[in-house]
Amino acid sequence: MSLPARRSAWQGYARASVAASTCRLDNPPMFRLCTAANLPEAYLLLHRLAQSGIEARVLNEHAQGGLGEIPFTHAYPEIWIMEPADEERARRIVLEFEQTPSTPDTARCAACGEMNPQAFEICWRCGNILR
Ligand SMILES: [Zn+2]
Repeated sequence: MSLPARRSAWQGYARASVAASTCRLDNPPMFRLCTAANLPEAYLLLHRLAQSGIEARVLNEHAQGGLGEIPFTHAYPEIWIMEPADEERARRIVLEFEQTPSTPDTARCAACGEMNPQAFEICWRCGNILR
């Protein structure tokens, strides 16, 4: 299997977390998959993982200010998977995810103004029903 020469931040983060996995704690058996550039991306990826039956969480979600504001460095949302055995499948999804155009279709929440992926039915930030 040959990877494209292009190396994105996603892959970089994925690589970086491999080392961390070797000393993971067994309880809880959570595993950091990667770091997302922003919250909508994190939640979109979470959605993709869920569609493939992979249980995941977004951590660090409150570390970032609102979109459009100057982001805090080193405070990117992190994707953690609950089952380390899902890692290989999850990484493939991350790879596919980063190869698709970023922010394909988004819908703005009428309640809080946050952008949500088109696939979402409720706003990830405030829980408002989007359609
Ligand atoms: Zn909202």
